Amino acid sequence: ATASIGMAVFPQDDVAPDTWLRHADQAMCHAKRTGRNQIHLFDVQQDHEVQTLHTQQTRVAQPLHDAEFRLYYQPKINLRTGEILGMEALLRWQHPELGLLGPQHVFPLIDDTELTVKVGEWVLEQALRQMRQWTAAGQCWAVSVNIAAWHFHRPNFVERLKAILQTCPEVPPSQLELEILESAALEDVAYMRSMMQSCQALGVRFALDDFGTGFSSLSYLKRLPAETIKIDQSFIRGIVDDHDDLTLVNAIIALAAALQRKVIAEGVETQAHSDILLQLGCELAQGYGTARPMPAEQVPEWARSYHHQASAPKA
Ligand code: C2E
Ligand code: MG
Ligand code: MG
Repeated sequence: ATASIGMAVFPQDDVAPDTWLRHADQAMCHAKRTGRNQIHLFDVQQDHEVQTLHTQQTRVAQPLHDAEFRLYYQPKINLRTGEILGMEALLRWQHPELGLLGPQHVFPLIDDTELTVKVGEWVLEQALRQMRQWTAAGQCWAVSVNIAAWHFHRPNFVERLKAILQTCPEVPPSQLELEILESAALEDVAYMRSMMQSCQALGVRFALDDFGTGFSSLSYLKRLPAETIKIDQSFIRGIVDDHDDLTLVNAIIALAAALQRKVIAEGVETQAHSDILLQLGCELAQGYGTARPMPAEQVPEWARSYHHQASAPKA
């Protein structure tokens, strides 16, 4: 026979007596789970971290439940022709007290949990419904959705994607693009490649997001079948006055051309950015210079005025 012993120590673990006993009991269970025949001391610090994580997760489960999440859409355009290519869907949290919150207030709270998948699937479903509505109105805009690495690595991702696509059969899957962070794509290239190919067999396309920040080697990039490379906005910002950024962006554009991928610049804010990008041979762009992310219902009106502007004679 073996002995498994759990300990909780006062005053380090300064709680009510019944909780204190429960902690000792929890420690004993831990000793049993991790091989028995040992003494385990209750970890106050870790318990605290788990508790906070727990309350934070309930907080993020709540907006999903209360329908406080929104998708905003930011246009992607062709700088040369003025054509609208599509939109990137971006998550927002319409908080009842704090107002509109960006994804930085959502994702850090739910990193690596089931909730990432729930939120990710909500985003996919919502984006497809929006595409169905736009398609019915004669606007066949492509929509890009950001996919978290944790979500994409789920073994049933492809199966779930297929099921979600089937809820909107009016939308051609080729209109849906999945954006994967370049850094996330580097973790396991063989696996990423086969996952991407399975999704592509359904018709969807891929973009490597925040490209330039992930140190991909040429050979990796060659094996990743993403149709599009999205240059990270930190480099785009610098092309006007930072020679290194300009060189880097130029190199990424050349790389994309060599591998026959499309290339799009994100964070294009000014006319100077657009002019330089066009000179470098990058025609596709997304950024505040065209439009900020907006609620879906504002997009058709924005598109009308954008086309009107584009067709108006230049002063
Ligand atoms: P991202 O995918 O690289 O998206 C571009 C971000 O840059 C967006 O920030 C957008 O609002 C912002 N942006 C666009 N143009 C400009 C510009 O000209 N200047 C500046 N300064 N910023 C610009 P946002 O919406 O705060 O999203 C941040 C990141 O959060 C996204 O970066 C993406 O990685 C993640 N994210 C957003 N929505 C989702 C989602 O539904 N699912 C997942 N997994 N991630 C999401
Ligand atoms: Mg993105
Ligand atoms: Mg980005």
